[in-house]
Amino acid sequence: MRIIDISMQIYEGMPVYKNKPEKKPIIRITKDYGSGSDVRESKIELELHTGTHLDAPLHMIEGGMDSAFFRTEDMVQKCKVLDMTWVEGGISDTDLRIKDVGPGDYILLKTRNSFEEVFNPDFVYLTESGARYLVDKAVKGVGIDSLGIERSQPGYPTHKLLLGKGIYILEGLRLKDVPEGSYTLIAAPLNIAGVEASPVRAFLLGEG
Ligand SMILES: [Zn+2]
Repeated sequence: MRIIDISMQIYEGMPVYKNKPEKKPIIRITKDYGSGSDVRESKIELELHTGTHLDAPLHMIEGGMDSAFFRTEDMVQKCKVLDMTWVEGGISDTDLRIKDVGPGDYILLKTRNSFEEVFNPDFVYLTESGARYLVDKAVKGVGIDSLGIERSQPGYPTHKLLLGKGIYILEGLRLKDVPEGSYTLIAAPLNIAGVEASPVRAFLLGEG
């Protein structure tokens, strides 16, 4: 069995959404050897939408469900990686129509984003029509290799369509080395109470 880590590494200089300095994580050593202590301890200040993470409905829907939305039984499940690396700009319903997508599928969209190491403001995203198509197909979750599943869409329709239907949104994936196909996805958020998102360590398990 092959285990593929599809998460982003967290470090202070890592790529963040729109590369805003205030969104970068801060890691501080609070105790260290040789300074009156014989241990090291650190703390981190981290936006919950940093790197690979899951969004809960509360992120985009007032009164929506918080991190209680992340059900333990959904943290390990079958998924389908779809190769969308030929798409430029936004992934639309037309782009998705040629793929095998059905009810209950957890879809991971592999795009050219996976081949870029720095934040690109023109990242490939899922358009409103693409989100509507996946809602109509009754998928269970949608993952993508960008720090946001949408951009340049006033009112955030992609987020709202998916989260409004209780569909998982998994952002910040790294899928460069992952061929299209079926896998087992492990995506476990931290167990933080009452929040609208959580960082995730995500793996794919494949044959071979
Ligand atoms: Zn997010």
